[in-house]
Amino acid sequence: MISSADAIRCPSCRKRNPLTETLNACARCGCELADLAHIHRTAQQYATLAAQALANADLTAANDYATEAWACRHSRRAAHLGFLATAAQGDWEQATEWLQLLKEPRLA
Ligand SMILES: [Zn+2]
Repeated sequence: MISSADAIRCPSCRKRNPLTETLNACARCGCELADLAHIHRTAQQYATLAAQALANADLTAANDYATEAWACRHSRRAAHLGFLATAAQGDWEQATEWLQLLKEPRLA
């Protein structure tokens, strides 16, 4: 089963297409997906950078990268990383904002 974080839902027919390096079009309807795939991969890269910064206790960078990941794609991973970075800094106001974002019903 494809997790929602590793798939792109076609905006035309709603099919979930696996996010691969070569994803250019929807497997069902042929809708162009290359730009969406690029944005999703960029979001994943920012989330990875956020996780690395968090592991290195660079909390400001971790939150900045999580924010970039969120800007590209609203995902649980980005919100979790942002929450962890800001909570570790003791910034409860921003940590609470990340928690609120986690309540979005349609997160990837
Ligand atoms: Zn489609």
